Amino acid sequence: SATVFYRDTWAEVDLDAIRENVAGIKSTLPDKIEFMAVVKANGYGHGALETAEEALKAGAGFLGTALLDEALDLRAKGITAPILVLGVTRPQDVPTAAEKDITLTAFQDEWIKEASDALAGTGAVLSLHAKLDSGMNRIGMKSKEEISRFASAVSASPSIKVTGMYTHLAAADELDRNFTLKQLKEFRRMGEELEEELGRPVACRHAANSAGTLLYAEAGLNMVRVGISMYGLAPSPAVKPLLPVKLKEAFSLHSRITHVKKLQAGESISYGRTYTASEEEWIATVPIGYADGWIRANQGGDVLVDGKRSPIVGRICMDQMLIKLEHPAAVDTLVTLIGGQGTEFISVEEIAARLETISYEIPCIISARVPRVLK
Ligand code: PLP
Repeated sequence: SATVFYRDTWAEVDLDAIRENVAGIKSTLPDKIEFMAVVKANGYGHGALETAEEALKAGAGFLGTALLDEALDLRAKGITAPILVLGVTRPQDVPTAAEKDITLTAFQDEWIKEASDALAGTGAVLSLHAKLDSGMNRIGMKSKEEISRFASAVSASPSIKVTGMYTHLAAADELDRNFTLKQLKEFRRMGEELEEELGRPVACRHAANSAGTLLYAEAGLNMVRVGISMYGLAPSPAVKPLLPVKLKEAFSLHSRITHVKKLQAGESISYGRTYTASEEEWIATVPIGYADGWIRANQGGDVLVDGKRSPIVGRICMDQMLIKLEHPAAVDTLVTLIGGQGTEFISVEEIAARLETISYEIPCIISARVPRVLK
């Protein structure tokens, strides 16, 4: 990255890994299936622009964002590939999307009418993908009546074209396949209803997230929407052993020791004095804290120093934390919080387990204060 920064804490994003992951996942799919790279939330914390560019180089043909803002940002930075906004956009903002050739998600007849009114006189045409709710119960049409009203509203609007339809899987990352198979069947049925109501076929159909893409051949349809696994992470620990491709984690997190000291037995460290040295101990200070997204619940976890594990001791502060070393280390010594050193590796999954969450959350919560360095 060309951005100048003056702190010794950074995240590294391995763009080769992203390219290899996209190519690897694509190689498990028939050629005719389009690959949407999901780059919402700043590319799951990896950097949206760079991730999008790598994915497009590796054969992705579509990009997915959550927000119109994210899609517009990519357009402003020169991305010309098709982009689908996966979340709900306000109807009054539809002309802005249409003008930038951004495809939106829609599923409410009222929305179609308001969007159509907003587009009237602009000369712009909106392309949209209709969202069908096959069981996630988040957004999308469920009933035949909703589908019928939606189709009528679309047919009445000269400025709105349905170019795709999709659904989202709620449990494709679980070992039990029943619910996902039911959702796929339901989607097929609802899709036929929609086409019948529109009086014409809808070219692009998609349902699969990473887990659906890698574990359900029948979920491929015309396009897959891959997020987490493009970044090298399994959709869940449960299905990790079942994945047909080897994935490489793209995200790592590093810092450098700013201070080292020897504590005497009985001396405590950091806020609340939650840790007291039981003997003479080497303690180092690392300039990362909860304002960087390195939340306090990381206390007790390990980091890597000189290829060895060192525990995080005492409360994590806003901008700094403390680690215990077996041997004294020099100021500026590399500390790896996520990633490898020598033969040791701290995976995103290890951090997710430590924080009792899913791996998706980890790169996302590392805050914008931590510069992303592209490798
Ligand atoms: N499609 C939609 C609608 C999503 O919301 C997401 C992300 O949550 C994805 C696809 C990508 O999912 P994953 O990161 O599990 O591949």
